Amino acid sequence: MNHFVYLDNAATTSVRPEVVDAMLPFFTENFGNPSSVYDFAAKNKKAVNDSRQIIADAMHADIRDVYFTAGGSEADNWALIATAEAYESKGKHIITSKIEHHAILHTCDYLKTRGFEITYIDVDENGTLRLDRLREAIRPDTILISVMFANNEIGTVQPVKEIGAIAKEHGILFHTDAVQAFGQIPIDVDEMNIDMLSASAHKLHGPKGIGFLYIRKGLKLRSFIHGGAQERKRRAGTENVPGIVGFGTAVSIAVSEMEERVRSESEVRDYLIEKIEKAIPYCRLNGHRTKRLPNNVNFSFQFVEGESLLIMLDMEGICASSGSACTSGSLDPSHVLLAIGLPHEIAHGSLRMTLSGETTKEDVDFVVEKLTGIVEKLRSMSPLYEDFIKKNSH
Ligand SMILES: *Cc1c(COP(=O)(O)O)cnc(C)c1O
Repeated sequence: MNHFVYLDNAATTSVRPEVVDAMLPFFTENFGNPSSVYDFAAKNKKAVNDSRQIIADAMHADIRDVYFTAGGSEADNWALIATAEAYESKGKHIITSKIEHHAILHTCDYLKTRGFEITYIDVDENGTLRLDRLREAIRPDTILISVMFANNEIGTVQPVKEIGAIAKEHGILFHTDAVQAFGQIPIDVDEMNIDMLSASAHKLHGPKGIGFLYIRKGLKLRSFIHGGAQERKRRAGTENVPGIVGFGTAVSIAVSEMEERVRSESEVRDYLIEKIEKAIPYCRLNGHRTKRLPNNVNFSFQFVEGESLLIMLDMEGICASSGSACTSGSLDPSHVLLAIGLPHEIAHGSLRMTLSGETTKEDVDFVVEKLTGIVEKLRSMSPLYEDFIKKNSH
């Protein structure tokens, strides 16, 4: 195979070589436990602290409010479950959106079994949260609003500052799953009134299995993992020092390159969108055209099956994902695509391509050429498409 194009950076990213280099000594010569008292371990304690500072600075937060976890899913679980428990005397109502990641939606399912009531707010056809619906949903017993910063499937970036303002106005806590946004686009927890924020290293060229939950000072959240006194007694377990160092290094690079990367990545993204719209008829761009992640492209192609598309792209050395990605081989179309109003059959023909800073216009040319041929081929085998063409030729 002479070509390999990886367009699934929303699923995970490659670890940057600089990140690996920064991590390596913490497996070997600096293997100490940061909690130990001797000088040998002090280096590790400092490395953990330095990473925590870099991460706090990246969202204008206080270093003491950053708690390392084993990834985004753990941070999401912690935020929801611990808030529910800590504030249930005030009320048992939680508001979220219809397009959250399963780490939020399935945690909400769990909380329902514990007597909590969940309201799922609609999004519009671009995937933007309906703020009017959010306001209407607020009740005296609402304790938490959890809305993702940017969507992992269709890339729509939410009006986070407005949501934060609404939460604050009503004295309700606001959590955001920022796994797709952190390190990709600017975040300011104070300006946006964010009380809790989840992020994960492996979505921004850091290692897998390390993330954090930001918890604003003053929140009464309990510890999620019980045991030692690590993470200010809120998340027990010997620190994943190499992971934390890798996360800090990845964030430091992401922040220093953010402006330039957002500019160049958006340019390649828009080039890809434009080329597809020109080359392939009966397609639809999913997600907001401008308020979207710089690396996200999501299209539905009529008369095409997303899974077949993926397999044929794979044979050309192109990695992408479809509307039902990461859900255990389920054939149900994605809840996100249904929430933006796509009929089942259109949602089934969806393709997500997520770029990295390395993706070039040459990659895009190659991908669109292959994609155009594949869509044509799949349509030529579709009886529905044949009928449609016949009808429209009269
Ligand atoms: C990837 C992802 C998660 C899960 O993060 P992990 O570190 O893989 O547990 C949660 N939310 C969103 C939006 C994601 O994209």
